[in-house]
Amino acid sequence: MSPVVARTRAELKAARAGMGGVVGVVMTMGALHSGHAGLLRAARESSDHLVMTLFVNPLQFGPNEDFDRYPRTFERDLEIAAAEGVDVVFAPTVDQMYPHGEPSVRVNPGPVGEILEGASRPGFFHGVLTVVSKLLHLTGADVAYFGEKDYQQLTLIRAMVRDLDLDVEIRGVPTVREPDGLALSSRNRYLSDAERRIALALSRALRAGAQAAADGEGPEATLAAADKELDGPELDYLVLTDPDLGPPPEHGPARLLVAARVGTTRLIDNIPVEIR
Ligand code: AMP
Repeated sequence: MSPVVARTRAELKAARAGMGGVVGVVMTMGALHSGHAGLLRAARESSDHLVMTLFVNPLQFGPNEDFDRYPRTFERDLEIAAAEGVDVVFAPTVDQMYPHGEPSVRVNPGPVGEILEGASRPGFFHGVLTVVSKLLHLTGADVAYFGEKDYQQLTLIRAMVRDLDLDVEIRGVPTVREPDGLALSSRNRYLSDAERRIALALSRALRAGAQAAADGEGPEATLAAADKELDGPELDYLVLTDPDLGPPPEHGPARLLVAARVGTTRLIDNIPVEIR
């Protein structure tokens, strides 16, 4: 069945009023792919009702980023949402989301918002957390699902919910990949065939690092093993951290994260790693 499409806050409120039980939400910027579909499926399985938001949030794009050319594929997105059992798609205009213009009050992500993605994209996580908190309030969801693909985003959303006592449960869902390892991303469609081959270095590097760690190699050798695979893309960062993005542990669970540019496209990926 086709989802109800809510374009305004009032339409969302009306659709939301009819929902009992556990309401799940998946927030997207559209241009849906199998990664989003996997996230929707995970959400569907443990929710009585499922809301998907579709909003390309201008607040989280820098002046030289791809806001204008970000892919917009609404009809196809609706088909995917329908196939995954979404009940309501909330697809507001910018004016609906920000009726008073750019908000002067924003959620401050703190120091973790200034490293990695935040260092390359100033103000990015202020924009992300502000829209996520607005969408949590507007949808009134009980559980919100986010992809581990955007690991720093997931970490900061968990911190926001904890630090600001938001009444919602956050669940992370593992990254969906192409058979050759490339993490699915709406921005992959910017890549030429040649660039796509170069982009494979990111997931290859993460796998090499995870394997080195599994072989008992320790943090430095883990990073070195990953780094060896990264000729081709223009590297922004390759880091090993603890699961909360702090300094890497000597033993136990860790996260290996990479960001790189291939042509004009910036790609990110990450993987869980066990330091032995
Ligand atoms: P986006 O539309 O890129 O803002 O992503 C919307 C949600 O989908 C976010 O929670 C992302 O982390 C998640 N997502 C994007 N790509 C993937 C993927 N390959 N696997 C799992 N989740 C993903």
